[in-house]
Amino acid sequence: MTVHGVNADLHSHSTVSDGTLDPAALVNLAAQKGVELFALTDHDELGGLRAAAAAAAAAGLRFVPGVEVSVTFAGQTVHVVGLGIDYEHAELIEGLASVRAGRMRRAEEMAKQLQTVGIEGALEGALAYAGNLELVSRTHFARWMVAAGYCDSVREVFTKYLVSGKPGYVPHRWANLGQAVQWICNAGGVAVIAHPGRYKFDDTAFAALFAEFKEAGGTAIEVATSNHGPDQVRRFAELARQFDFEASRGSDFHDPGEAHTELGRVARLPESLVPVWHRFL
Ligand code: AMP
Ligand code: MN
Ligand code: MN
Ligand code: MN
Repeated sequence: MTVHGVNADLHSHSTVSDGTLDPAALVNLAAQKGVELFALTDHDELGGLRAAAAAAAAAGLRFVPGVEVSVTFAGQTVHVVGLGIDYEHAELIEGLASVRAGRMRRAEEMAKQLQTVGIEGALEGALAYAGNLELVSRTHFARWMVAAGYCDSVREVFTKYLVSGKPGYVPHRWANLGQAVQWICNAGGVAVIAHPGRYKFDDTAFAALFAEFKEAGGTAIEVATSNHGPDQVRRFAELARQFDFEASRGSDFHDPGEAHTELGRVARLPESLVPVWHRFL
């Protein structure tokens, strides 16, 4: 089979960050859905990779150990996926621990803000949804707010709360771009800009991001992701060619119910691009 023909899904989350399936269940679902090359990329965490790798070996699914690092660039949060990392690499482990360190304080601040608009008990609520107390995420707040009846969907929470200018938004300083890329590369991985269509960047800001990313050792950008419609796939395919990046593909799957896209059901990459997974076959 050609590299392009492989059903690669190189972006997903388990209960170790803000997904709802544990690593083994996630891997088994990916295999069941016809994924042929699969990466677990929990936010700022490596804790699920050993169990995921074991489950993948048992299911006969090719597995790529990954991570999604939270970065602050030009005042915005940018996510950098690392693929093919050594999850026992000390520098990466310590770097990610430093990124996770501020999350509980931030969660306390978020809950305080939500209290001022009449939403009581959000911290306890969110923590009940977190599978990992080092990784309390806005997603856990959102799931609790839906369950508590404040919104009808997680998507709705992210329009009315928890985003810039809305109650419950607490600005946070994540890793530097160069640092995150360095942790990934030194751990033997390749760095990939996640879901570029999510960032509120104009062409100039993207040019700055991509130039700095490349300079730091970055290799690829996600072109096909559940966040990208056909226009965005075309736009970022063009930018990948312009900046000479390889291209990645991933569902960013978190939960069977919340998913707009199932595991492995993402657009195919345009044939003119080099799939980053040629490195993992
Ligand atoms: P955090 O790392 O705590 O800031 O949480 C970020 C996570 O929130 C992302 O990884 C997504 O899972 C989720 N998220 C962010 N924006 C949205 C959105 N518009 N709709 C649904 N989930 C979102
Ligand atoms: Mn997430
Ligand atoms: Mn992300
Ligand atoms: Mn993600």
